[in-house]
Amino acid sequence: MIDSIKKLKAFFNTSNTSSIVFRKNQLLKLKTAVIKHEQELYEALYKDLKKNKEEVWVTEIGFFLTELNHTINNLKTWMKPKKVRTNLLNLPSSSYIYHEPLGVVLIIAPWNYPFQLLFTPLIGAIAAGNCVVLKPSEFTPATSSIMKKIIEETFDENYILYIEGDGATVVPEMMNNFIFDHVFYTGSTAVGKIIYQLAAKNLVPVTLELGGKSPCVVDETANIKIAAKRIALTKYSNCGQMCVAPDYVLVHESVKEELVEELKKYIQQFYDVDSAQSYHYGKIINEKQIDRIVKYLDDGKIIFGGNYDKEKLYIQPTLLEVHDVNSSIMQDEIFGPLLPIVTYTLKEQAVEIINKNPNPLAFYIFGTSKNEQEYWLQKIPAGGACVNNASLHLTNHHLPFGGRGFSGLGNYHGKFSFKTFSHAKAVLKTPNWFDPSMKYPPFKGKLGLFKKIIR
Ligand code: NAD
Repeated sequence: MIDSIKKLKAFFNTSNTSSIVFRKNQLLKLKTAVIKHEQELYEALYKDLKKNKEEVWVTEIGFFLTELNHTINNLKTWMKPKKVRTNLLNLPSSSYIYHEPLGVVLIIAPWNYPFQLLFTPLIGAIAAGNCVVLKPSEFTPATSSIMKKIIEETFDENYILYIEGDGATVVPEMMNNFIFDHVFYTGSTAVGKIIYQLAAKNLVPVTLELGGKSPCVVDETANIKIAAKRIALTKYSNCGQMCVAPDYVLVHESVKEELVEELKKYIQQFYDVDSAQSYHYGKIINEKQIDRIVKYLDDGKIIFGGNYDKEKLYIQPTLLEVHDVNSSIMQDEIFGPLLPIVTYTLKEQAVEIINKNPNPLAFYIFGTSKNEQEYWLQKIPAGGACVNNASLHLTNHHLPFGGRGFSGLGNYHGKFSFKTFSHAKAVLKTPNWFDPSMKYPPFKGKLGLFKKIIR
């Protein structure tokens, strides 16, 4: 394995990956290959996660293609050295930012959006002129085998290498025996810490796209029907196995009953009365996750749902009334279809609860008062946020996507991906025709002049 990775470095050193023609060609080849295997991806994602085709298009293939097309269309502009202003001290030099490829980068993905979370960072890595090692999750074997096929049919293995296997074995083996130029990791905060430590040994830069508890506040001014509809949409999509799913709801006491009734209504409308039979409702990835999630049912009063079937990897969309904000369900990332409803009276109480898990990956505020919206946006530090919406900020490739603190480090999507996978090199170009003696020693007596120029 390590010998194969070393070949990527040799290929990178030929500089073949750096021209715009090469990069664009690879992106176009990737697009053709994905479109060719679209049908197989639907089948594989159904097998691994019971995702329906429409969901696969919106959250995996279509999501990826939008980002890919945007990158192809803008790559030339992004690659151009950017001229910036030059300060007085350096005049008449001119100043530029060059975007330099990093080298050989490692992209590690989780299982919940196995295609999107491996292939979307790949767009940025190719666009920025790198060689890439792709490490998918071991828990989505059907999707992984199609992705392997796409990569191996499309790219030279000295340029993009697909490595499968148990992450706890394969990743340390790679990172301990090869110095990557960047590691882009998406997954849990616990494993993110391991990746950070492995990278630190060789000062390898990292992007960490992690998880966490994304709170959702519904205040007394909210349009409750719309809030319930939008929360139900993203909380139960992919059975809540979404990094930016609303983890729990903090609702003002005056609108709690109405919100719960509307949530019940929309859950049944979206995922049918019997969600176990619903075309629209997915499954939990494996039994280990079922065991982990159903334990949280004891942490609150079930007000809707609560049924599960371990053999069928099914947990019903569930609403739980939670009073103990120190219970496990209010401390761990739920990553499943259980939605705790916590009531607050004063917004300071809600802030205190949110601050128990600071720097969430996302924060959502539902309310119609502009002042209150700004209060919340400024009060809660978070990776990203939505006002009167949930999760969908990540579908806009004009916005950076990433966490902060325990929810991550760095960001990507669109131009931000290109930046993540490039080094911004500062370049100062100085002409020879102007070379005043004051710039050179002896400096004695020039303090007054220096004070005029450098201030
Ligand atoms: P995970 O951390 O278990 O696994 C992610 C990847 O890391 C996999 O490829 C796995 O093989 C590898 N891995 C596992 N153990 C490892 C180890 N000891 N050393 C090195 N590599 C190891 O995550 P998961 O369970 O696949 O995904 C769920 C988590 O991912 C949730 O916390 C979720 O919030 C988070 N997530 C975050 C984002 C985001 O964009 N921020 C997106 C999706 C999922």
